[in-house]
Amino acid sequence: MKRILTIVLAVCMVMGLLGCSEKEQSLQIIAMDTAMTFTAYGKQAEDVLQDASTEVRRLDKLLSRTNESSLVSQLNAAEGNKVAVGQEVAALLAASAAYTAATGGAFDITVAPVVSAWGFTTDSYHVPAQKELEILLERVGMEKISLTEDTAALAPEMGIDLGAIAKGYASDRIAELFREQEVQRGWAALGGNVLAWGSRPDGKPWVIGIQDPANPNDGTAYAGMIQLESAFAVTSGSYQRFFEENGKIYHHIIDPATGYPADSGLVSVTVVAAAEPGNGTMCDALSTALFVMGEERAVEFWRSGSYEFDMILVTEDGRVVISPGLEDSFTVEGGYVCETVS
Ligand code: ADP
Ligand code: MG
Repeated sequence: MKRILTIVLAVCMVMGLLGCSEKEQSLQIIAMDTAMTFTAYGKQAEDVLQDASTEVRRLDKLLSRTNESSLVSQLNAAEGNKVAVGQEVAALLAASAAYTAATGGAFDITVAPVVSAWGFTTDSYHVPAQKELEILLERVGMEKISLTEDTAALAPEMGIDLGAIAKGYASDRIAELFREQEVQRGWAALGGNVLAWGSRPDGKPWVIGIQDPANPNDGTAYAGMIQLESAFAVTSGSYQRFFEENGKIYHHIIDPATGYPADSGLVSVTVVAAAEPGNGTMCDALSTALFVMGEERAVEFWRSGSYEFDMILVTEDGRVVISPGLEDSFTVEGGYVCETVS
Protein backbone atom coordinates (compact mmCIF):
# COMPACT_ATOMS: atom_id res chain seq x y z
CA MET A 1 0.00 0.00 0.00
CA LYS A 2 2.88 2.34 0.84
CA ARG A 3 4.30 1.78 -2.63
CA ILE A 4 0.94 2.49 -4.23
CA LEU A 5 0.62 5.69 -2.21
CA THR A 6 4.11 6.72 -3.21
CA ILE A 7 3.26 6.16 -6.84
CA VAL A 8 0.08 8.19 -6.49
CA LEU A 9 2.08 11.01 -4.98
CA ALA A 10 4.64 10.75 -7.78
CA VAL A 11 2.61 13.03 -9.97
CA CYS A 12 -0.30 14.87 -8.47
CA MET A 13 -3.02 16.70 -10.31
CA VAL A 14 -3.45 20.00 -8.63
CA MET A 15 -7.09 20.75 -8.97
CA GLY A 16 -8.66 24.11 -8.28
CA LEU A 17 -12.20 24.50 -7.04
CA LEU A 18 -13.71 25.57 -10.24
CA GLY A 19 -17.17 26.80 -9.32
CA CYS A 20 -18.43 25.75 -12.70
CA SER A 21 -21.75 24.34 -13.86
CA GLU A 22 -20.29 21.48 -15.92
CA LYS A 23 -20.64 18.32 -13.88
CA GLU A 24 -17.45 16.55 -12.86
CA GLN A 25 -17.36 12.78 -12.45
CA SER A 26 -14.43 10.93 -10.99
CA LEU A 27 -13.49 7.27 -10.56
CA GLN A 28 -10.61 5.69 -8.67
CA ILE A 29 -9.33 2.17 -9.21
CA ILE A 30 -6.26 0.14 -8.41
CA ALA A 31 -4.88 -1.63 -11.46
CA MET A 32 -1.43 -2.34 -12.90
CA ASP A 33 -0.13 -2.22 -9.33
CA THR A 34 -1.00 1.47 -9.19
CA ALA A 35 -3.75 3.75 -7.87
CA MET A 36 -5.46 5.48 -10.77
CA THR A 37 -7.94 8.37 -10.98
CA PHE A 38 -10.06 9.14 -14.03
CA THR A 39 -12.08 12.37 -14.27
CA ALA A 40 -14.39 13.57 -17.02
CA TYR A 41 -16.91 16.36 -17.53
CA GLY A 42 -20.17 16.53 -19.45
CA LYS A 43 -23.03 14.13 -20.07
CA GLN A 44 -20.84 11.27 -21.31
CA ALA A 45 -18.68 11.44 -18.20
CA GLU A 46 -20.13 8.57 -16.19
CA ASP A 47 -20.16 6.13 -19.12
CA VAL A 48 -16.69 6.98 -20.34
CA LEU A 49 -15.20 6.52 -16.88
CA GLN A 50 -16.76 3.05 -16.59
CA ASP A 51 -15.40 2.20 -20.03
CA ALA A 52 -11.95 3.49 -19.07
CA SER A 53 -11.96 1.33 -15.95
CA THR A 54 -13.06 -1.78 -17.89
CA GLU A 55 -10.41 -1.12 -20.52
CA VAL A 56 -7.56 -0.68 -18.01
CA ARG A 57 -8.58 -3.89 -16.21
CA ARG A 58 -8.64 -5.72 -19.55
CA LEU A 59 -5.12 -4.52 -20.32
CA ASP A 60 -3.90 -5.42 -16.84
CA LYS A 61 -5.11 -9.02 -17.39
CA LEU A 62 -3.44 -9.13 -20.80
CA LEU A 63 -0.09 -7.52 -19.99
CA SER A 64 0.70 -8.23 -16.33
CA ARG A 65 3.78 -10.29 -15.77
CA THR A 66 2.73 -11.29 -12.27
CA ASN A 67 -0.67 -12.62 -13.39
CA GLU A 68 0.08 -16.18 -14.50
CA SER A 69 -2.78 -16.35 -16.97
CA SER A 70 -1.86 -13.15 -18.83
CA LEU A 71 -0.69 -13.34 -22.43
CA VAL A 72 2.66 -11.92 -21.39
CA SER A 73 3.07 -14.70 -18.79
CA GLN A 74 2.11 -17.29 -21.41
CA LEU A 75 4.74 -15.87 -23.72
CA ASN A 76 7.34 -15.86 -20.94
CA ALA A 77 6.54 -19.50 -20.13
CA ALA A 78 6.53 -20.70 -23.75
CA GLU A 79 10.20 -21.79 -23.70
CA GLY A 80 10.91 -20.42 -27.13
CA ASN A 81 7.69 -21.55 -28.81
CA LYS A 82 5.57 -19.28 -30.94
CA VAL A 83 2.50 -17.86 -29.16
CA ALA A 84 -0.62 -16.40 -30.80
CA VAL A 85 -0.62 -13.09 -28.91
CA GLY A 86 -3.12 -11.26 -31.14
CA GLN A 87 -2.63 -8.09 -33.14
CA GLU A 88 -2.85 -5.67 -30.22
CA VAL A 89 -0.04 -7.24 -28.16
CA ALA A 90 2.03 -7.92 -31.29
CA ALA A 91 1.76 -4.22 -32.18
CA LEU A 92 2.81 -3.20 -28.67
CA LEU A 93 5.83 -5.53 -28.89
CA ALA A 94 6.71 -4.04 -32.29
CA ALA A 95 6.44 -0.53 -30.81
CA SER A 96 8.69 -1.64 -27.93
CA ALA A 97 11.25 -2.93 -30.43
CA ALA A 98 11.18 0.41 -32.24
CA TYR A 99 11.82 2.31 -28.96
CA THR A 100 14.69 -0.05 -28.14
CA ALA A 101 16.28 0.64 -31.53
CA ALA A 102 15.71 4.40 -31.26
CA THR A 103 17.13 4.67 -27.73
CA GLY A 104 20.24 2.57 -28.32
CA GLY A 105 18.89 -0.13 -26.00
CA ALA A 106 18.18 2.15 -23.02
CA PHE A 107 14.55 1.04 -23.18
CA ASP A 108 14.32 -2.74 -23.41
CA ILE A 109 11.40 -4.91 -22.27
CA THR A 110 13.65 -8.00 -22.44
CA VAL A 111 15.47 -6.76 -19.33
CA ALA A 112 12.78 -8.76 -17.43
CA PRO A 113 15.01 -11.59 -16.10
CA VAL A 114 17.36 -8.96 -14.64
CA VAL A 115 14.46 -7.05 -13.04
CA SER A 116 13.39 -10.36 -11.42
CA ALA A 117 16.90 -11.11 -10.16
CA TRP A 118 16.78 -7.85 -8.18
CA GLY A 119 13.46 -9.00 -6.69
CA PHE A 120 11.35 -6.22 -8.16
CA THR A 121 8.66 -8.64 -9.37
CA THR A 122 8.30 -10.44 -6.04
CA ASP A 123 9.16 -7.66 -3.57
CA SER A 124 11.92 -9.89 -2.10
CA TYR A 125 14.77 -7.55 -2.95
CA HIS A 126 18.47 -8.37 -3.02
CA VAL A 127 21.61 -7.43 -4.95
CA PRO A 128 22.36 -10.25 -7.44
CA ALA A 129 25.89 -11.64 -7.78
CA GLN A 130 27.90 -10.23 -10.68
CA LYS A 131 28.19 -13.73 -12.22
CA GLU A 132 24.40 -14.15 -12.11
CA LEU A 133 23.90 -10.77 -13.81
CA GLU A 134 26.36 -11.71 -16.55
CA ILE A 135 24.41 -14.89 -17.31
CA LEU A 136 21.08 -13.05 -17.27
CA LEU A 137 22.34 -10.22 -19.47
CA GLU A 138 23.04 -12.75 -22.23
CA ARG A 139 19.28 -13.36 -22.37
CA VAL A 140 18.55 -9.66 -22.86
CA GLY A 141 18.10 -8.28 -26.38
CA MET A 142 15.06 -7.24 -28.36
CA GLU A 143 16.57 -8.74 -31.53
CA LYS A 144 16.05 -12.20 -30.03
CA ILE A 145 12.25 -11.84 -30.31
CA SER A 146 10.54 -13.03 -33.52
CA LEU A 147 7.38 -11.12 -34.29
CA THR A 148 4.66 -11.40 -36.88
CA GLU A 149 1.43 -9.41 -37.12
CA ASP A 150 -0.19 -11.56 -34.44
CA THR A 151 2.38 -13.98 -33.03
CA ALA A 152 5.53 -13.69 -30.96
CA ALA A 153 8.30 -16.06 -29.97
CA LEU A 154 11.03 -15.37 -27.41
CA ALA A 155 14.29 -17.24 -27.31
CA PRO A 156 14.28 -19.91 -24.54
CA GLU A 157 14.95 -18.46 -21.06
CA MET A 158 14.14 -14.93 -22.22
CA GLY A 159 11.39 -12.91 -20.63
CA ILE A 160 9.59 -9.64 -21.21
CA ASP A 161 8.24 -7.05 -18.80
CA LEU A 162 5.93 -4.34 -20.11
CA GLY A 163 6.02 -2.40 -16.81
CA ALA A 164 7.73 0.57 -18.46
CA ILE A 165 5.15 0.97 -21.24
CA ALA A 166 1.82 -0.66 -20.21
CA LYS A 167 0.43 2.34 -18.30
CA GLY A 168 1.38 4.61 -21.17
CA TYR A 169 -0.45 2.35 -23.60
CA ALA A 170 -3.45 2.30 -21.23
CA SER A 171 -3.44 6.12 -21.19
CA ASP A 172 -3.54 6.08 -25.01
CA ARG A 173 -6.60 3.83 -24.87
CA ILE A 174 -8.29 6.20 -22.40
CA ALA A 175 -7.60 9.13 -24.73
CA GLU A 176 -9.21 7.12 -27.54
CA LEU A 177 -12.31 6.50 -25.42
CA PHE A 178 -12.51 10.22 -24.57
CA ARG A 179 -12.17 11.05 -28.27
CA GLU A 180 -14.74 8.47 -29.46
CA GLN A 181 -17.28 9.55 -26.86
CA GLU A 182 -16.65 13.23 -27.56
CA VAL A 183 -15.61 14.10 -24.03
CA GLN A 184 -14.46 17.73 -24.09
CA ARG A 185 -12.43 17.81 -20.91
CA GLY A 186 -11.08 15.57 -18.19
CA TRP A 187 -7.91 13.94 -17.01
CA ALA A 188 -6.52 10.57 -16.06
CA ALA A 189 -3.65 9.81 -13.68
CA LEU A 190 -2.33 6.26 -13.88
CA GLY A 191 0.32 6.63 -11.20
CA GLY A 192 2.99 8.76 -12.84
CA ASN A 193 1.28 8.60 -16.26
CA VAL A 194 -1.01 11.61 -16.72
CA LEU A 195 -3.38 12.49 -19.54
CA ALA A 196 -4.68 16.08 -19.50
CA TRP A 197 -7.67 16.13 -21.87
CA GLY A 198 -8.80 19.50 -23.19
CA SER A 199 -8.65 22.33 -20.69
CA ARG A 200 -10.27 22.95 -17.31
CA PRO A 201 -13.93 24.03 -17.34
CA ASP A 202 -12.80 27.63 -16.74
CA GLY A 203 -10.76 27.45 -19.94
CA LYS A 204 -7.40 27.44 -18.16
CA PRO A 205 -4.87 24.61 -18.55
CA TRP A 206 -4.71 21.71 -16.12
CA VAL A 207 -1.86 22.01 -13.64
CA ILE A 208 0.34 18.97 -12.95
CA GLY A 209 2.77 18.87 -10.04
CA ILE A 210 6.10 17.11 -10.61
CA GLN A 211 6.89 15.30 -7.36
CA ASP A 212 10.05 16.51 -5.62
CA PRO A 213 12.30 13.40 -5.75
CA ALA A 214 14.01 14.58 -2.54
CA ASN A 215 10.67 14.41 -0.67
CA PRO A 216 8.89 11.43 -2.22
CA ASN A 217 6.52 10.87 0.70
CA ASP A 218 5.30 14.45 0.86
CA GLY A 219 2.48 14.78 -1.66
CA THR A 220 2.75 18.57 -1.53
CA ALA A 221 6.48 18.82 -2.27
CA TYR A 222 7.08 19.60 -5.93
CA ALA A 223 10.13 20.13 -8.12
CA GLY A 224 7.84 22.19 -10.32
CA MET A 225 4.42 22.62 -11.91
CA ILE A 226 3.45 22.31 -15.57
CA GLN A 227 0.36 23.74 -17.17
CA LEU A 228 -1.01 21.36 -19.76
CA GLU A 229 -3.81 21.21 -22.30
CA SER A 230 -4.49 18.09 -24.36
CA ALA A 231 -1.20 16.46 -23.46
CA PHE A 232 0.41 13.42 -21.89
CA ALA A 233 3.00 13.84 -19.13
CA VAL A 234 4.79 10.74 -17.86
CA THR A 235 7.30 10.63 -15.00
CA SER A 236 9.86 7.94 -14.19
CA GLY A 237 11.77 8.37 -10.96
CA SER A 238 14.26 6.42 -8.91
CA TYR A 239 12.30 7.37 -5.77
CA GLN A 240 9.20 5.46 -6.93
CA ARG A 241 10.39 1.95 -6.12
CA PHE A 242 13.62 1.03 -4.41
CA PHE A 243 15.25 -0.91 -1.58
CA GLU A 244 18.30 -0.43 0.60
CA GLU A 245 21.08 -2.97 1.18
CA ASN A 246 24.24 -2.25 3.18
CA GLY A 247 23.46 1.44 3.14
CA LYS A 248 23.11 1.66 -0.63
CA ILE A 249 19.89 2.44 -2.49
CA TYR A 250 18.87 0.30 -5.47
CA HIS A 251 15.93 1.44 -7.62
CA HIS A 252 13.75 -0.24 -10.26
CA ILE A 253 14.94 1.35 -13.52
CA ILE A 254 17.62 -0.97 -14.85
CA ASP A 255 20.35 -0.04 -17.30
CA PRO A 256 20.20 -2.97 -19.77
CA ALA A 257 23.90 -2.40 -20.53
CA THR A 258 25.05 -3.18 -16.98
CA GLY A 259 22.14 -5.02 -15.34
CA TYR A 260 22.36 -2.51 -12.47
CA PRO A 261 19.88 0.24 -11.52
CA ALA A 262 20.69 3.15 -13.85
CA ASP A 263 23.21 5.38 -12.13
CA SER A 264 22.83 8.22 -14.58
CA GLY A 265 22.88 11.30 -12.36
CA LEU A 266 19.11 11.77 -12.84
CA VAL A 267 16.49 11.28 -10.15
CA SER A 268 13.40 11.92 -12.23
CA VAL A 269 12.42 12.34 -15.87
CA THR A 270 9.12 13.67 -17.16
CA VAL A 271 8.29 13.43 -20.86
CA VAL A 272 5.49 15.61 -22.26
CA ALA A 273 3.80 15.34 -25.67
CA ALA A 274 0.53 16.29 -27.36
CA ALA A 275 -2.50 14.08 -26.64
CA GLU A 276 -2.29 12.39 -30.03
CA PRO A 277 -2.65 8.64 -30.69
CA GLY A 278 0.39 6.67 -29.58
CA ASN A 279 1.97 9.49 -27.60
CA GLY A 280 1.00 8.07 -24.18
CA THR A 281 3.00 4.94 -25.05
CA MET A 282 5.85 7.06 -26.43
CA CYS A 283 6.05 9.23 -23.29
CA ASP A 284 6.18 6.14 -21.06
CA ALA A 285 8.89 4.40 -23.11
CA LEU A 286 10.95 7.58 -23.39
CA SER A 287 10.69 8.57 -19.72
CA THR A 288 12.27 5.23 -18.81
CA ALA A 289 14.84 5.47 -21.62
CA LEU A 290 15.94 9.05 -20.84
CA PHE A 291 16.32 8.09 -17.19
CA VAL A 292 18.76 5.34 -18.21
CA MET A 293 20.59 7.64 -20.66
CA GLY A 294 21.35 10.41 -18.18
CA GLU A 295 21.37 14.15 -18.87
CA GLU A 296 23.92 14.35 -21.65
CA ARG A 297 22.58 11.51 -23.78
CA ALA A 298 18.98 12.54 -23.05
CA VAL A 299 19.62 16.08 -24.29
CA GLU A 300 21.35 14.70 -27.39
CA PHE A 301 18.41 12.39 -28.02
CA TRP A 302 15.96 15.29 -27.65
CA ARG A 303 18.05 17.40 -30.03
CA SER A 304 18.11 14.59 -32.63
CA GLY A 305 14.40 15.26 -33.18
CA SER A 306 13.59 11.55 -33.70
CA TYR A 307 10.45 12.08 -31.64
CA GLU A 308 8.45 15.20 -30.90
CA PHE A 309 8.39 15.67 -27.12
CA ASP A 310 9.38 17.97 -24.28
CA MET A 311 11.17 16.89 -21.14
CA ILE A 312 11.88 17.81 -17.54
CA LEU A 313 15.03 16.22 -16.09
CA VAL A 314 15.66 16.48 -12.35
CA THR A 315 19.34 15.88 -11.58
CA GLU A 316 21.00 14.45 -8.49
CA ASP A 317 22.84 17.76 -8.02
CA GLY A 318 19.67 19.81 -7.62
CA ARG A 319 18.98 21.14 -11.12
CA VAL A 320 15.87 20.94 -13.25
CA VAL A 321 16.65 20.84 -16.97
CA ILE A 322 13.76 21.56 -19.34
CA SER A 323 13.35 21.70 -23.11
CA PRO A 324 12.40 25.14 -24.53
CA GLY A 325 8.83 24.03 -25.40
CA LEU A 326 8.02 24.10 -21.67
CA GLU A 327 9.50 27.50 -20.88
CA ASP A 328 6.11 29.22 -20.74
CA SER A 329 4.25 26.40 -19.01
CA PHE A 330 6.74 25.19 -16.38
CA THR A 331 7.38 26.82 -13.00
CA VAL A 332 10.23 25.51 -10.90
CA GLU A 333 9.73 24.90 -7.16
CA GLY A 334 11.45 23.26 -4.20
CA GLY A 335 14.64 25.30 -4.40
CA TYR A 336 15.82 23.71 -7.66
CA VAL A 337 17.79 25.70 -10.22
CA CYS A 338 16.04 25.63 -13.60
CA GLU A 339 18.00 25.50 -16.87
CA THR A 340 16.63 25.41 -20.40
CA VAL A 341 18.48 23.39 -23.03
CA SER A 342 18.88 24.80 -26.49
P1 ADP B 1 6.90 3.03 -13.37
O1 ADP B 1 6.38 1.75 -13.91
O2 ADP B 1 7.33 2.99 -11.95
O3 ADP B 1 6.02 4.16 -13.67
P2 ADP B 1 8.78 3.08 -15.57
O4 ADP B 1 7.80 3.41 -16.61
O5 ADP B 1 10.08 3.79 -15.67
O6 ADP B 1 8.26 3.35 -14.12
O7 ADP B 1 9.02 1.52 -15.66
C1 ADP B 1 9.86 0.82 -14.79
C2 ADP B 1 9.55 -0.66 -14.86
O8 ADP B 1 9.88 -1.16 -16.16
C3 ADP B 1 10.37 -1.48 -13.89
O9 ADP B 1 9.63 -1.75 -12.72
C4 ADP B 1 10.68 -2.74 -14.66
O10 ADP B 1 9.63 -3.66 -14.56
C5 ADP B 1 10.76 -2.29 -16.08
N1 ADP B 1 12.09 -1.79 -16.50
C6 ADP B 1 13.17 -1.46 -15.73
N2 ADP B 1 14.18 -1.00 -16.47
C7 ADP B 1 13.76 -1.00 -17.76
C8 ADP B 1 14.34 -0.62 -19.01
N3 ADP B 1 15.58 -0.13 -19.08
N4 ADP B 1 13.60 -0.77 -20.13
C9 ADP B 1 12.35 -1.28 -20.08
N5 ADP B 1 11.74 -1.65 -18.94
C10 ADP B 1 12.42 -1.52 -17.79
MG1 MG C 1 8.06 4.21 -18.58
